[in-house]
Amino acid sequence: MNASAVVSARGARRWAEGHPWIFRSDVVTPPSAGPGTIDVVDQRQRPLGTALWSPESEISIRFVSRESGVTLDAAWWERMLSLALARRAGLIDAETNACRLVHGEGDGLPSLVVDRFDRWLVVQLLSAGLEAHRGVIVAALQRLVPNEGILARNDASVRSREGLTRGVELLAGSVPETVEVREHGVRYLAAPHTGQKTGAFLDQREARVFAGSVARGRALDVFSYHGSFALHLARRAETVTAVDVSGAAIARAAENAALNGLTNITGVEADAFEFLRAEEARGAQYDTIVLDPPAFAKNRGAIAGAMRGYKEINLRALRLLAPGGLLYTASCSYHVRKPEFLALLEDAAADSGRRVILRAMTGQPVDHPEVLTVPETGYLKGALLEVQM
Ligand code: SAH
Repeated sequence: MNASAVVSARGARRWAEGHPWIFRSDVVTPPSAGPGTIDVVDQRQRPLGTALWSPESEISIRFVSRESGVTLDAAWWERMLSLALARRAGLIDAETNACRLVHGEGDGLPSLVVDRFDRWLVVQLLSAGLEAHRGVIVAALQRLVPNEGILARNDASVRSREGLTRGVELLAGSVPETVEVREHGVRYLAAPHTGQKTGAFLDQREARVFAGSVARGRALDVFSYHGSFALHLARRAETVTAVDVSGAAIARAAENAALNGLTNITGVEADAFEFLRAEEARGAQYDTIVLDPPAFAKNRGAIAGAMRGYKEINLRALRLLAPGGLLYTASCSYHVRKPEFLALLEDAAADSGRRVILRAMTGQPVDHPEVLTVPETGYLKGALLEVQM
């Protein structure tokens, strides 16, 4: 028997419309239980389903099923994880050995992230209700995905808002400091223990391959991190300049270039805004530019400033392109939605005085599924622009 919570009509409606989160303000009667599985009913006692309960979180309830009384036992986790794995069938192959296996709400498994890097798994348990199921989740992963080690990157800041401790923990086997990732003809080192996210930006895999396929001439990879775009660009472009404010990131980018035997990549440790300004001032020109900045808008209040930042880098990049040049530009700010992203590109194009063609818009790769009724599952968008004259 699961303990039971009563939620408001507004909360019930949200779930009826396909969003699994119930905020604290819509919990009418909390369950008499600690974090874990609960049943949820509306104020007329009509059953709404089974959910994860996080007593300390603003996001108090996360639905996992429309059925009530579901026990989240080994069989349940194996069934749900198998569905997520089936969604990635064929993805791990000759072309790549790393992908996201579980994308939280995108796979109907709220607050759970599982990434595979070759023979190792990196997980994130991002809510108290989910954390309560840690043992059974790890056991299910062990049965379903042969691996040599499972690492928890539970250092994510959202865990604090759940009343959970933060840290990096080894959950099974052993996980090396670096893992060599194969990605459509290039190789790079992921850093599961210390790297950003779970060790690498798997969400840009398809975009990197795409940008690499159209790259040429003098190329620039701004916000390069470990040089993952630069590696793809360098296969077709003559030269690639990889820019990042972090010296450690640029050092790793150089290591990755050497790993691929690429000698046409130059790393520059610099602030992107200053770098682009200085390049414009000296009249530099490029044929291919990639902009993959961090999320400038971390919350709603930061949107206006973020839009100014995005506009500036995109405007400067457009001005730096030679006629016929290409810009692949991305934004991973959840708070900047697709229409706003397109509008800021239109704005930058207008100010650039150039004729700019929208060649393609890109979204998240297949292993980061985006649920239409759960906007939070979608944050990454990109565009390929061509400057005609
Ligand atoms: N393109 C990468 C991911 C980039 S993540 C990939 O595909 O893997 C964003 C990067 O921007 C980080 O490496 C961070 O160090 C860098 N960064 C953040 N602010 C910056 C700034 N003002 N100037 C230059 N780089 C910056």
